Order: sequence, then structure tokens, then C-alpha cells
Amino acid sequence: MGLSIGIVGLPNVGKSTLFNALSSKQAEAANYAFCTIEPNHGIVPVPDARFGKLSEIHKPDREVPAQVEFVDIAGLVRGASKGEGRGNAFLTNIRDTDAIAHVVRCFVDDNVLHVDNRVSPASDVETIETELVLKDLETVEKRLDKARRAARGNDANEKRAVGVLERLFALLDKGEPARMITYEHDDEILIVRDLGLITQKPIFYVCNVHEDQLGKDDDALVGEVAAIAKRRGVPYVVICAKIEAEIMQLPPSERGDFLDSVGLTEPGLDKVIRTGFGMLDLITYFTCGKQEVRAWTIKRGTKAPGAAGVIHTDFERGFIKAEVIKYDDMVSLGGEQAVKAAGKMRMEGKEYTVEDGDIMHFRFNV
Ligand code: GDP
Repeated sequence: MGLSIGIVGLPNVGKSTLFNALSSKQAEAANYAFCTIEPNHGIVPVPDARFGKLSEIHKPDREVPAQVEFVDIAGLVRGASKGEGRGNAFLTNIRDTDAIAHVVRCFVDDNVLHVDNRVSPASDVETIETELVLKDLETVEKRLDKARRAARGNDANEKRAVGVLERLFALLDKGEPARMITYEHDDEILIVRDLGLITQKPIFYVCNVHEDQLGKDDDALVGEVAAIAKRRGVPYVVICAKIEAEIMQLPPSERGDFLDSVGLTEPGLDKVIRTGFGMLDLITYFTCGKQEVRAWTIKRGTKAPGAAGVIHTDFERGFIKAEVIKYDDMVSLGGEQAVKAAGKMRMEGKEYTVEDGDIMHFRFNV
């Protein structure tokens, strides 16, 4: 499953610094030799304590954690939707992503130019969101014209489409993102989904602060972003991208002490990756053995055969049943044999909906 998160933000807010720190994580992950490394794409492991525990229990030859791709999307400036800067090129890149990490500058540093000559997180957020909304407005307008014409020709489906498209247009026209739309019928969901709107993608804010601001609850600049995040119902994380880049330069054995010294309990990068991954409405199941412990990513609500198909289409085609161990049972009993002995391994069929953390073993026949 190719899942990607686009990093957007105004110039000089710390996108590349964050992206480079993420890329060093990719370089470190030994199992990714198979990925071609593109300059602005980085594939990173998703931090998951459960994965570490399962690896401890099985001591496998190979560990393959869940992964997510970050894409550094440069070139978003005021007027971009109308072709300023790199113009529309960035839009294609954003459309290809599943979620958006919006980096907002919350650090003051006179040596780093701000495009508007002032550090103002709330207006930066607005500048970027306005560009995205304007682009979506264009898309909706075109579609609405088409629907109206078809509706005049008595196309019943298109008549219905006009209603939701008009509401969407009005919403965007007020500067609100498309994800705030409320639907009146289920079929409206598909009509809107087909538009591939940028502001319908899940988004979270990454407040990039100076190291002195880390761990402070009352930072005014972060507060501006927090207020917007609350109003919009989206998450935000606070990091110092510069520190994150420095942490990744250190040998892993020295990172713990360094984190302590700057008052962090975990790297900010982990928070960014987890938050991004968490927005995608995905769950993880595991396969565990002597050879390999591996995390697999599926959409929430996937049934067992579909989950098997993520490993190989043959597993789905020839699905017979699945042996399922609950994560808590595996950890508290300490291994598959003990789980079996305790009668806690379950046999599940085609209708089983896989749950987050399940340890699966598929039986199939092709
Ligand atoms: P981008 O244009 O958004 O990709 O921004 P960059 O990552 O290139 O950062 C722009 C400048 O800001 C660079 O000189 C960075 O070193 C600096 N910078 C990035 N993050 C921080 C930070 O957390 N604190 C400070 N003081 N400077 C930072």
C-alpha cells in the first residue's frame, strides 16, 4: 500500500530541514534497500511499540515495520494557485498524496528571512490554505458548470450533483476547506470524492519552534496554530526541526541523552510520523515468525481475505481461514505455543474483520 504524506508550507519555514531529518531515518532503515530514493521522497518506518515487543518475542532474522512515505512539496507561495512561483506544478504533487503535513513557522530567527518579513503563524496558515481552497474552487466550478448543463438536459444524477456541488462551492468560497462539508445523501460522498479535492485530504499542522520553546505549554506562536487546529478539528504537533536534524546526525546510542538534555521524551519526528499515519484511517496487523516479524497496513474495516491480499493476491484468492492471535495475548503469554496451549488462538473465516494489532496467519489454497 503506497501511503504518502505531503509536506507543505511557505518557504523558509523548515520543510526541507524536517524532510532531511526524515530522510536520514530512511537511510538508517536497513530493510528499505528495495526503495529507489528520490530526492524529495522519503520512506520511513512508523514507530510502533507493539512492533518492538513482537520482535523481542520472536527474535526474527528480519524486521519489517509499517512504513509511510513523506514527500517534500516545495513551491507553495502566495498566488501559487494562479501560477505564481512554481505555480501549479506542486498541485499535482499534493493530489498524489493521502494526507498533508502543513509546516508552520513558529520560531523567531532574524537570520532566517520570512517571506512576509514577520513571523505570524495564523496568517501563514491562512495564506497556504487560501491557495489550496482557491485551487479546489476552480475544480468545483468546472464540475458544477458541467452538472448544471447536464441537469438542464434532465439528467437526474447530475441534477442531484448540482445540490452538493453548490454547497461545496459556497463553503470553499467562504475560505473553508472541503472536508468541512456535511452530506445530505450517501451518493453525495462519491460525487465529492471523485473531484480529488486537496482540502478534503486529512491535514495536520507541524509547528516548527526554536529549541527554547520546546515543552512550553503557553507559547503564543504555537497558541495561534493550536487555536486554528481546534476550530478545524485537526491535530497539530510541536517540533524543532533543527534539533531533529541534529538528533539524526548522532549515533543512535547517544540520542537518548541528547533528548533528555533538550527536555524531550521522544524524537519529534516520531510524533510527526505517528500523527501522519494516524490520519489515514489505517490499522496494522502483524505476521510473526522466526524468519520475519512484519507489520502490514490495511484500511480499517478490511475483512480477513482482503487483509491476506495485501501480502499476496494468491492469499486472497485461495483464502481458507485465518489463525488470529490478539496482541495482548501474545505479549502476556510470551509466544505462539503458549497462546495455543492456553486455547487463545482463534480460527476465523471470510467474514472476520481484522482488528488493529491482530497477529495473523493465513491458510490458503490455490
Ligand atoms: P523550507 O524553505 O521550508 O524548506 O525551509 P528550510 O528547511 O530550508 O529552512 C529555512 C531556514 O530556516 C534554514 O536556514 C534552516 O536552518 C532554518 N530553520 C529550520 N528549522 C529551524 C528551527 O527550528 N529553528 C531555527 N532557528 N531555524 C530553523
